[in-house]
Amino acid sequence: MRFELQAECPDTGARAGLIHTGHGIIETPVFMPVGTQATVKGVMQSDLAEELDAKIILANTYHLFLRPGHEVIRELGGLHRFMSWPRAILTDSGGFQVFSLSDLRKITEEGVLFRSHLDGDEHMFTPESTVDVQLALGSDILMPLDECLEYPASHEAANQAMQRTVRWAETAYGYFERQAEDTGSASALFPIVQGSMFADLRRECASQLLALNAPGYAIGGLSVGEPRSLSLEMTEATTPLLPRDRPRYVMGVGMPEELAEYVARGVDMMDCVLPSRNARNGCLFTSGGRVIIKQARYRRDPEPLDANCQCITCRTYSRAYLRHLFQAGEMLFSTLATIHNLKYYLDIMRQMRQAILLGRFRDFLYNVRKPAVESS
Ligand SMILES: [Zn+2]
Repeated sequence: MRFELQAECPDTGARAGLIHTGHGIIETPVFMPVGTQATVKGVMQSDLAEELDAKIILANTYHLFLRPGHEVIRELGGLHRFMSWPRAILTDSGGFQVFSLSDLRKITEEGVLFRSHLDGDEHMFTPESTVDVQLALGSDILMPLDECLEYPASHEAANQAMQRTVRWAETAYGYFERQAEDTGSASALFPIVQGSMFADLRRECASQLLALNAPGYAIGGLSVGEPRSLSLEMTEATTPLLPRDRPRYVMGVGMPEELAEYVARGVDMMDCVLPSRNARNGCLFTSGGRVIIKQARYRRDPEPLDANCQCITCRTYSRAYLRHLFQAGEMLFSTLATIHNLKYYLDIMRQMRQAILLGRFRDFLYNVRKPAVESS
C-alpha cells in the first residue's frame, strides 16, 4: 500500500491524494460506505461499483468473526471473493463493537474477553488474534485492537486506556509485519490514536505511535456521544502530529456538513453509518437540506428527491413514490434511499477533492460554512 500526496490546500490542512492498494486506487479525501456484515445494507455490489463508484468499503471484524466466521470466509477465498467485491476493503479491529455491543467480561493486558451478542458464547480478542482474523478476511487495510472508552471518561481512565492501546498497537503491528512478510500480503495496518477528549493524551498517543512508522494512521474514539465541536477539536489536536505523507483516517464521522471540516483539518478518510442508517429510517440528505420522506407534504410531490443529484433514485423516481414505498414498508425504499444518501456523501467528497486539486478548497469551505452561520 502506498499513499501519493497530490495537492495541499495552502490555507487549510486539506489534502488530495491517491492510496494505491492491491484492489485498486482510492482517490482521497474519501468516504467509505459501511458494509458491516459484508454488505452495505440494501445495496448490491454492482450498484456500489457502477452507480456510486465507491472505491473502498468498510466491513466489521467483530460481526464477521461471529458470523459466518473468518475461517469460513478464508476457505471461500477471502472477503473480496465471498462478497463479490473486487475493490478495496478496510476492516476495523472489532474493538469498538466489543465495547459497544457485546457483554464485556474482562479487559486484561492480554486482550478483551467478551460474550457474543448473538448467542452469549465467550470469546477472546487479543492484538494478535484480531490481526489473524483480518488477514483471514484478506482486508486491504487492517486496524489493531484498541480500547474504546465511553464519553465522558476521566483523564486517568483515558490515560490508562490510551497507554494500553499503544501497547496493543505495538504488539499488533509487530505481529502483523511478521505475518505479512511470511504470506507476502500487500495489506497495511493503521495504528489508532486514542485519548478520549483530552488533547494532551491524543498528542502523546500520536507521538508514541509514530515510532511504528506505519503506512497510515487512524483517529478513533470519536462520535461516542461528545459534542461535535469536541470531535473536531480532538482531530485538530492530532492531525498535525501525523506524518504528512501517510493517509489519516477518522473513524465513525460525520454529518454531511462536517465532512469539509474534517477534510480542512487534514483528514483523508472517513466512514459513518449515518447516510445508510438514516436512509433506511426515511431521512434523506439533499442539496436543499434534509427531507423526512414520511411527511404528508410529499404525498403528491412529483419532483425528484434532489434535482441536483444524478443518482438512479433521483433520475427515476418522484418524492411521492419514495414516500409511498416508505409508508408501505417496501424493501425497495431502503435500496433507493441508501443509494441516494451514499451518492450525496460521495459527491461531496469528489467535489472537495476537485476543489483541493484546483486550489479552491478555501472557497468550498466558506460556502459550506455560510449556511451554518446564517441559520444560527
Ligand atoms: Zn439522488
